[in-house]
Amino acid sequence: MNMQNNPFNLAQLLEFAGKYHPTQKVITRRVEDDQIVEHTYREVLARSKKLANALKKLGVQHGDCIGTIALNTHRHMESWYGISGQGAICHTINPRLSMKQLHYIVNHAADKYLLLDPIFWPIIEGMHTKFPNVSGYIVLTERENMPKTEISNVYCYEELLTDAPDEFDWPEFDPQEGSSLCYTSGTTGDPKGVMYTHTSNLLHAYGLSLSDAIAVGAQDTILVVVPLFHANSWGLAYAGPMIGCNLIMPGKRMDGGAIFELIEKYNATSAAGVPTVWTSLLEYADKTGKKMESLNDVVVGGSAAPPSMFTRFREKHDVDLIHAWGMTEMSPLGTINRPSGAIMDLPKDEYLRIRRKQGRPIFGVDLKLVDEKNNQLPHDGKAVGRLLVKGNWIVHTYFKAGKPAVDEDGWFDTGDMATIDEYGYMEIIDRAKDLIKSGGEWISSVDMENHAMGHAGVSMAAAIAIAHEKWGERPLLIVVPKEGHKPTKETILEHLSTEFSKWQLPDDIVFVEEIPLTATGKFSKLHLRKQFEGYFD
Ligand code: ADP
Repeated sequence: MNMQNNPFNLAQLLEFAGKYHPTQKVITRRVEDDQIVEHTYREVLARSKKLANALKKLGVQHGDCIGTIALNTHRHMESWYGISGQGAICHTINPRLSMKQLHYIVNHAADKYLLLDPIFWPIIEGMHTKFPNVSGYIVLTERENMPKTEISNVYCYEELLTDAPDEFDWPEFDPQEGSSLCYTSGTTGDPKGVMYTHTSNLLHAYGLSLSDAIAVGAQDTILVVVPLFHANSWGLAYAGPMIGCNLIMPGKRMDGGAIFELIEKYNATSAAGVPTVWTSLLEYADKTGKKMESLNDVVVGGSAAPPSMFTRFREKHDVDLIHAWGMTEMSPLGTINRPSGAIMDLPKDEYLRIRRKQGRPIFGVDLKLVDEKNNQLPHDGKAVGRLLVKGNWIVHTYFKAGKPAVDEDGWFDTGDMATIDEYGYMEIIDRAKDLIKSGGEWISSVDMENHAMGHAGVSMAAAIAIAHEKWGERPLLIVVPKEGHKPTKETILEHLSTEFSKWQLPDDIVFVEEIPLTATGKFSKLHLRKQFEGYFD
């Protein structure tokens, strides 16, 4: 053997942080009382080892699935490592899923224990009889915050840790084995599980840490707004210990004021989350006249960020908004937008237009555009096709599914429509199922929303297709006005006319107080389509 071939275990990332970044911190807003607490990586490591010991004592074995129903806290992060590090599978569950979906995935994964924040205890009270495989519940809190319950086998996380030794030898096993499991939200059919491996997560963490990806170092502090249950929190809880940056875990407070407080108090240099979170942060900053002094950049993904968001961050806060795209099936990072030398000398407008796209792939991900006959399309920035992906951290077969999720050449169909330009920048045009098909032509719902959100009185806008007798489908725009504004249908249509032809304009605009969000914080088009079904009849 020429070179060492040490089997890799994800726990080594935290072990590394405990050894070489021992005093860097995980800062948490506690879920129980919103108090902020700090733990060093050394402490987080010791606590994850205690958890590993406690779980072993409770009978957890190699390969068992252990579910977590929890928000972003140090305890949730310790659970990730304590579970995967001992060779079990950390199954992160989105607490905002419907009861039906929760029931399905806990049983599909055959979770042996569930670890959960005390605020989610009512879910268990209502459903525990429907979880035949679950042998116990571990509540991520201290004794005084434990729920009062008749259910047996309920454990207090902090008590388990107090009683457990803080030395644990992470076992060696094949790093291609599963480490963690995440289900897609399943807008159609049952949710599908993606089983990540120790290797795929490690490679993803390396890729994410590149300077043309999240570009942070051991002097940075990242605010991790993207949940630990949403596609691995985009890999940040793995990359953090690898890089040695501080991580801020915001708990349950997601309002603009609470997020702003964490950024300001801990001098966050970077932050990551979906667009809806940044909309409330920007609105809070506008209202209070406050500036985000410490932030260098904000990573946004999960759904398209409107152009106005880039301008607001840049002009008011001197913050670079970094667009990224990915999927649960991709661990999730596919592309991220950092400037390439090739575009630096382009005219400013063109440069900015490219910087708003979803970005270039990082090494480890390959992209392909195809038409409806599966012919490959050129990278000319114009041809719109279905986006296929292939790579080292992309799903091959969904968990417990009979057949692969990829075609015979190994490509996975993302269900997104996109272009790729000559510089390698990909732009999402729409989800194939969200495109509005009017009289045989396409209208991009994303484009329409983006432009509508540039109107001074619009806070959020969602465009959906409504069945239409003559045209097949016609667009309807649903708008949440900005606080203190009363935009009219006429002014919004006028604003949209600068970008869209007459036939593309929405047939009507409906004003609402809020747009329903999916479990991952995106506009729920499914819900909207149901709500406005038959609107043009
Ligand atoms: P869910 O739909 O369950 O929230 P994912 O987070 O895996 O699950 O969703 C992935 C999808 O989200 C992508 O296929 C794409 O349609 C959309 N998406 C992710 N990032 C972006 C982005 N930056 N711009 C536009 N769409 C995005």
